[in-house]
Amino acid sequence: MAKRCIALYSGGLDSILAIRMMQEQSFEVIPLYFCTPFFGYDVLVNTKAHKEFHERAYGIRMHPVDFTDDIIDVVRDPRHGFGKHLNPCIDCKIRMLRKAGSMMEQLDASFVVTGEVLGQRPMSQRRDAMNLIERESGLKDMLLRPLCARHLPPTYPERTGLVDRERLGDMAGRGRKAQMELAAKYGITPETMPTPAGGCLLADEQISRKVGLTFERFRPGVPSRADILLDILGRKFMLDENTVLIVSRNEEENRMLSSMVFQGNTFLKIADVPGPMCVMRGDASEKNLRTAAAVCLRYSKGRGMEGRVAVYGPDPSALTGTVEASAVSEEYCRRFQIDLNK
Ligand code: SF4
Repeated sequence: MAKRCIALYSGGLDSILAIRMMQEQSFEVIPLYFCTPFFGYDVLVNTKAHKEFHERAYGIRMHPVDFTDDIIDVVRDPRHGFGKHLNPCIDCKIRMLRKAGSMMEQLDASFVVTGEVLGQRPMSQRRDAMNLIERESGLKDMLLRPLCARHLPPTYPERTGLVDRERLGDMAGRGRKAQMELAAKYGITPETMPTPAGGCLLADEQISRKVGLTFERFRPGVPSRADILLDILGRKFMLDENTVLIVSRNEEENRMLSSMVFQGNTFLKIADVPGPMCVMRGDASEKNLRTAAAVCLRYSKGRGMEGRVAVYGPDPSALTGTVEASAVSEEYCRRFQIDLNK
């Protein structure tokens, strides 16, 4: 067996520690970073910058994997259900591990590593869930969780001596003391510690609702990645039953929304006035364009001004169409805003 393994890398402390533990045992580790609209989306957009950051900060050369189509398929019908919101954690983990497992031969890797800790998370890190994930991922005996390995039965790489079990961890539960001590041993200080990521958006109540409504709208089919991406940011309006309008709320959302160039998306903003970038998707009729322009004006610095014009097009760098933007009230806009409290 090769002294090479694949790791699921989230950018969080636990996965960094798991990788370091394997490197300490002289393994070459291939860290896979699974990106979806709900987690790590910016890594898909700014791949180079993120790769450089992780290498500089933690010495980890991550390999981003676009997991968008997989997560859409998993959310559509998770065999093991959802967590508190629309997060199908058990099925998601199984799918990630299956994907990692399918790359083992090609990468000449001997097993797969995760930063999971027994009992740390209520849904996917209970002992029974961890056993189930191992079984259904097809990685039985080939899935090593270095941080808590000594609480689990020895895996094949441990039994054959490829991995020294005595040097693996016995962490368990929700406390972080053992992780902090190990981090200090590896020279990860409070200053260089990864800040807890925003977390997976499928565990966010409001975004889960938006995503749930989008899946409902497309049933019995499934939404595309372009449809789903419009649920992760901005204010959301439905101009008719098939036409979505997203209005960004800040510079960061402007930047992210501008990256969502997909066939069927129409970008729109008010000409000559600072304000939001908007994306309309569905029926780009004259009526919907006018409504979109009016809503966009309402959230721009030109709010209430008459005689303004919106520019639009299929790409933020090609806004060649123009449409009148009427001054409208907040109540007018609210008529189209989706109600997330239903
Ligand atoms: S929190 Fe999100 S990314 Fe993580 S396992 Fe659950 S669904 Fe998957």
